[in-house]
Amino acid sequence: MATIVEIIQTKERAVLIGSGFGAWAAERPSLWWGNLDPHKENGFLETVAISDRSGNIQWIKSQDVRVIEIDGIPISQMDISNEISIPVFKTQCSRCKKALTTGNTTCSNCGLEN
Ligand SMILES: [Zn+2]
Repeated sequence: MATIVEIIQTKERAVLIGSGFGAWAAERPSLWWGNLDPHKENGFLETVAISDRSGNIQWIKSQDVRVIEIDGIPISQMDISNEISIPVFKTQCSRCKKALTTGNTTCSNCGLEN
């Protein structure tokens, strides 16, 4: 039995085979000091591993897929809520986008309580 997902953009179906948490970092030269004081950004990306019928595995952002069915039962027929309203777990500051450390909701960069 499996969890079937649909890729929202293409409507293609795939099997969900796992989930992961990827960290990313980027750096670009600053306007005045160039590479002496580069602008750094980092964050986390929630990803899921999906497989096509040939068994090819791809990692995709979790927001780009939606679950269609689990173990042969369409998700729309399950006795679950239409929307989940609890605050979602945040991995980066909503103001400055700096990655939050695990279990910490206060941004170490700008001080915002996320
Ligand atoms: Zn911040």
